[in-house]
Amino acid sequence: MTHWDAVVVGAGPAGSATALLLARSGARVLLLDRARFPRDKPCSEYLSPETTRVLERLGGGVLDAVAQASHARLTGMKVVAPSGRAMIGRFDRTGARFSFALPRTSFDMILRSAAETAGAVVQEGVKVHDLIYDRGAVGGVIAAETHRARVVVGADGLRSVVARRLGGVRTSSPRRVAFTAHVADVAGVTDVGEMHVGQTGYVGMGPIGGGVTTVALVVPVKTLKLRTGFFDALDRFPGLAGRFDRRRVVRGILATGPFAQWSRASVAPDGGALLVGDAADFFDPFTGQGIYSALRGAELAAAAVMEALTSGASLQAYARARRREFAGKWLLERLIALGVGWPALVERVVARLARRADLADLLVRASGNCIPARAVLAPGVLAGLLW
Ligand SMILES: Cc1cc2nc3c(=O)[nH]c(=O)nc-3n(C[C@H](O)[C@H](O)[C@H](O)COP(=O)(O)OP(=O)(O)OC[C@H]3O[C@@H](n4cnc5c(N)ncnc54)[C@H](O)[C@@H]3O)c2cc1C
Repeated sequence: MTHWDAVVVGAGPAGSATALLLARSGARVLLLDRARFPRDKPCSEYLSPETTRVLERLGGGVLDAVAQASHARLTGMKVVAPSGRAMIGRFDRTGARFSFALPRTSFDMILRSAAETAGAVVQEGVKVHDLIYDRGAVGGVIAAETHRARVVVGADGLRSVVARRLGGVRTSSPRRVAFTAHVADVAGVTDVGEMHVGQTGYVGMGPIGGGVTTVALVVPVKTLKLRTGFFDALDRFPGLAGRFDRRRVVRGILATGPFAQWSRASVAPDGGALLVGDAADFFDPFTGQGIYSALRGAELAAAAVMEALTSGASLQAYARARRREFAGKWLLERLIALGVGWPALVERVVARLARRADLADLLVRASGNCIPARAVLAPGVLAGLLW
């Protein structure tokens, strides 16, 4: 049995960033992942523009490593309605503000290595099965061996075992699943990410460097029985038909979901554990905010854990910080995720935004975390999207 200040379960963006920050602050940290890195993850692999600032704050050469890795730079997002009508919003009108997009194999490896360099002990191929308790509070994890810790950080993603042990998860509509692939030489790819909304489901895609495009098909669980081939499904979207060469798949299809799932509590009621990243909540990938939320959540989690370790403060401060930080984003991403399930509504909003570049930019900047979500949630702006 080993004793740690913190055991972090999961070395994705949330877990690696939390481990990095804790180790740098002097905590003795064990970072566990059931996978061996580099590992892949079904994702559209776009880092919203504000993510760059978090990477800079993480230090340890993380931002430089991302900039040196093979990547693409996106300057905005295009949304295509079921009819084929399109709108484009930019992160700024000069094109200076951009987002990185790169394969998760390299991005997650950069963060995991930075955590190790900062002093975290990393163990791969280690699956956590359960939590242990010490006088009512979480006191460690059970994997192949037992690891005791003053704090356990559950950063183990959408199907988090830590979240399930802490009191369970809630689910809601829309229940969607995703199929993702990497395809080379896709016709018409530019410097904007593309979201194509159809009668059932949507496709998110964009360049990730090296002439490769990441493509994610997201469909409601209930339509899965109508499953056709991946490329046949893509060809039914007017903005995508004929753009893919099926022989140019460079990474096969990965599936994930269903989403719209969040934990009942981000902090264990009796202390000793908290959740960060998808383990805490993941609603829908449409707005592409998951990695930003994982990294920003890691900053909040590390601050609360260090307070708990050094002064015995309650971890509940983390739950309050998350609400302050993410309440607007939670509402905006839910409204958008529900809205894309209504093709007629998407048609109307895209038609409006195609004529109102100012509103298109506002929406894209809010979903890219460049400005607070509440900027879009003002009644006047919401009305402007429809009338
Ligand atoms: C289709 C799709 C497209 C997306 N596109 C984008 C996008 O373009 N931009 C964006 O910002 N976000 C996007 N997201 C969301 C993003 O992928 C997630 O929000 C992000 O990966 C969350 O990071 P995380 O560290 O919380 O979890 P993860 O990245 O899932 O990492 C969790 C880690 O925990 C490990 N683990 C799990 N269980 C255990 C266990 N029992 N024991 C030990 N280790 C364990 C896993 O191996 C994994 O390495 C997308 C999601 C989907 C599904």
